[in-house]
Amino acid sequence: MKSIDPFEELAHFWGRHGLDLLFPPRCSVCGEDLQRDYSSSQWSDVCQRCERLLSADVPRCMVCGEVSFETVDGCRQCTDCRPPWQGLIALSGYGLHTRDAVLRAKHPGGEVIAAAMGRLLAEKHRALIDSWKVECVVPVPMHFVRRAFRGTNPAEEIARGFSKTMGFLWSRALARVQSTRMQNELPFSKRAANVRNAFQIRARVRGKRMLLIDDVCTTGSTLKACSGVLLRAGAEKVFCAVVSKADRSA
Ligand SMILES: [Zn+2]
Ligand SMILES: [Zn+2]
Repeated sequence: MKSIDPFEELAHFWGRHGLDLLFPPRCSVCGEDLQRDYSSSQWSDVCQRCERLLSADVPRCMVCGEVSFETVDGCRQCTDCRPPWQGLIALSGYGLHTRDAVLRAKHPGGEVIAAAMGRLLAEKHRALIDSWKVECVVPVPMHFVRRAFRGTNPAEEIARGFSKTMGFLWSRALARVQSTRMQNELPFSKRAANVRNAFQIRARVRGKRMLLIDDVCTTGSTLKACSGVLLRAGAEKVFCAVVSKADRSA
């Protein structure tokens, strides 16, 4: 039987609590004090309120992510949605709390928020993601000029948190070769044309099952353009994961 060394116990206590006493942990999203469960090996960086608000959602079609769907053989599916990808998951809709977190994640300093949302996205849909047998995670890329101007690409940070949680590899397998207008500055009818030739492949994806990651999906034009490039390069299947599936009618 293992004896308990009081010095070892003390070192263990300070190792887990010491830094928290000096620098009290705060929620990555709202900044409120975090109550940590020291008995757990997994420490959350998001408070329970933010976790609940960011993860709350209505049932969605498992293929396109829209709210209106029918139940076909026990699966939530539209009868007529035919996106180029095989399935889409979202952490939530575009409610106030999510909108605020997504907008803050677009700026330097918001990387922790983006990564936390990536982790929540993976934890919420872990069983479904496992069933997809994904081989590579690809964040939707930003044009290098915009990336330099912005200082961060939230899709990459979401992919980082998501991939770490799932134990996946992520890769910049796509490049944005055109600096297009922001999709949210355009009417829905102009968005597909805006990104039609915006992306290029920059890694070998032939025969692979890819998962695209973005912060927000509204019409799906960006994810469709990216999926098309991956599939034309020989990817076996494409799946999508977004923090927020915004309502098309908004
Ligand atoms: Zn919080
Ligand atoms: Zn659908």
